[in-house]
Amino acid sequence: MRMKLFPVLATSLLLGAPALQAENESSVRVMHPDAQPSQLGSAKNFTGTVRVDSLFQAQAPGRVGGGTVTFEPGSRTAWHTHPLGQTLIVTAGVGLVQQWGGPVQEIRPGDIVWIPAGAKHWHGASPNNGMTHIAIAESLDGKAVDWLEQVSDTQYRQSP
Ligand code: MN
Repeated sequence: MRMKLFPVLATSLLLGAPALQAENESSVRVMHPDAQPSQLGSAKNFTGTVRVDSLFQAQAPGRVGGGTVTFEPGSRTAWHTHPLGQTLIVTAGVGLVQQWGGPVQEIRPGDIVWIPAGAKHWHGASPNNGMTHIAIAESLDGKAVDWLEQVSDTQYRQSP
C-alpha cells in the first residue's frame, strides 16, 4: 500500500491532483527517496527536459507539499499560478523567474523566491545553464497549481 502512495505525490504537486490521504494518519512516517521515482515534467506544462523528484506531501489537515525540480538549460515551466503562493529555494545552477508584466530575474543558489497567491509567473533554467530548485506550495481544495499557456521562445528570449 505504501508504495502506491508515492507516484501520486508528484501528480499532486505539479498537476494539481487531490492530495492522497494515507491510511495511517496518526503515525510518524519515514519516507525513503527510492520509493518515489523521478518523473519527467509533462510536455503540456513544461518546455524542454525537466525532472521532478517529489519530497513530501502533508496529510490533512496539513496541506504543504514540496519537491525538487531540475531544469536542463533552456527548459522552463509554462505560465501558471498557485492558489496559496509558492516558495522556491534555488539549490544549483543559474535560473530565471518572471511574473507576468515584470522583468525576467536571474536566480542562483541560496536565493529564495516567494510567488504570491494568484500571481501569474514561470520559472526555469537560464539558456546556458541548468537550474535546480526545491518548490514548496500549499494546496487549496487539493490543488497547488493552475497551469496556463506555455512560455514562448520570444518571451523566454527576453531573459538577461
Ligand atoms: Mn510556480
